[in-house]
Amino acid sequence: MSSGTNKHWAEEIAEKVLERRGVKKHVVATGITPSGHIHIGNLREIIIADAVRNALLKRGADAEMIYVADTYDPLRRRYPFLPENYEEHVGKPLSEIPDPEGCCENYAEHFLNPFLEALEELSIEIKLYRADELYKRGAYADAIKMALERRDDIKRIIDEATGRRSPEDWSPFNPICERCGRLTTTKVKGFDAGGAFYECECGHGGFAPFKGGGKLTWRVDWAARWKILGVTVEPFGKDHAVAGGSYDTGVRISKEIYGYEPPFPIPFEHIILKLGGRLAKMSSSAGVNIPVKEILEVVPPEILKYAILRTKPERHIEFDPSLGLLSIIDEYERRFAAADDVPFRHVVMLVQLGRRPHSEEVDLSLVRAAAERSGYVVKDEEAFMRKVMYAERWLRRFAPESMKFELKEALPPEAETLTEGQKAALRVLASTLRDNMTAEELHNAIYAAAENVGIKGADAFKAVYIALLGKPSGPRAGWFLASLDKEFVRRRFLEAAG
Ligand SMILES: [Zn+2]
Ligand SMILES: [Zn+2]
Repeated sequence: MSSGTNKHWAEEIAEKVLERRGVKKHVVATGITPSGHIHIGNLREIIIADAVRNALLKRGADAEMIYVADTYDPLRRRYPFLPENYEEHVGKPLSEIPDPEGCCENYAEHFLNPFLEALEELSIEIKLYRADELYKRGAYADAIKMALERRDDIKRIIDEATGRRSPEDWSPFNPICERCGRLTTTKVKGFDAGGAFYECECGHGGFAPFKGGGKLTWRVDWAARWKILGVTVEPFGKDHAVAGGSYDTGVRISKEIYGYEPPFPIPFEHIILKLGGRLAKMSSSAGVNIPVKEILEVVPPEILKYAILRTKPERHIEFDPSLGLLSIIDEYERRFAAADDVPFRHVVMLVQLGRRPHSEEVDLSLVRAAAERSGYVVKDEEAFMRKVMYAERWLRRFAPESMKFELKEALPPEAETLTEGQKAALRVLASTLRDNMTAEELHNAIYAAAENVGIKGADAFKAVYIALLGKPSGPRAGWFLASLDKEFVRRRFLEAAG
């Protein structure tokens, strides 16, 4: 996806990674806490990682992409979409909380599953790790013990980096209380070779084994994970990249405590969703959020990838699923589609000509006939049907009113507003229409008709739209007329002209 002589940013990153780090195998890491619907901001991380992994492979490196689902993170609070009785689960690991909708194995899986399906649709291959499984099988045991032994050093690193003072009894390890199931309410009182002694706010005290008895606090967990999974490259939201942020502390903990070279960082900016002209930062807890699955119902996966990869990670993306999406598809098709493919923008119009009267249903044979009248030959039936499906969904979900129209079966009452000049232009136009005229010839014919009767071009275009659609604007007129049955158009124009 390099443009001209410029190398794509993913290629540049891959080259830097290979220059700086000579390892047998590169591991590009991504991850998410599945505490709510996973949204398109999270997808940026995955798509960046996928591009870098592919660029590494292209250069002959051995590389894989991993995805760590933070299923062992605690539920932070009862989100608005959760029932009231979920108050009792706040503080428990997500993997140990029931699915709020009862359909999956647990809370974490409920939000993870649709995201994994989306990755499949995007053809992005990952090696999946679930944090709860890693902890339960003891993958973190040594790292936890080491963190407790070096607690003072880690506390100093975090305090220095953040400029804050963590409490004297701060611990890098959060045991899960055997009685109440929370890991946010326990305090470590001591440890031995296999686990930690704790007291919980619920009044219970006990022993939490390093294997499955609790988890490292976030900043320490992240650094420990790099070594445990051999991570060499990692994209992450720029919030983690600020001075004193979790990447800064991660680097020091990784080097000074775990003796591991931290991964090559790829900080990336947010995706800002533009809905109805308003901008809103995507966040799964703040509510402004389109789940990835829903986006993929409307946006073809290759377009979504393109929309994200065309912008460098350090720049924010304003994602406008309305007209913005249409321009991105135009751009994508100019670069990658065959010249004789029916453009998506044209399909958006054709679909609206293919609706059965008084129905939302689209008749594919009508759409196809309109495509052929406008000069296209549908060679790949399946690809065409796919475009029709996406165009239809886009019209329903994100298209602005200006893109929507309905071809009127009978002369619309608005035709009464036509001036004598406009009527004369329609009469001239009716007499010049021929079956095989191209979109461009039709466009020019409208201007010629206007000139012929001495009205402005714009007024002739308005007349065309009013006669056919009952409103003064519509799709690009040349392409529109080219897609219609000329005999029908001729009759309508004459009828409108009185
Ligand atoms: Zn479920
Ligand atoms: Zn407890």
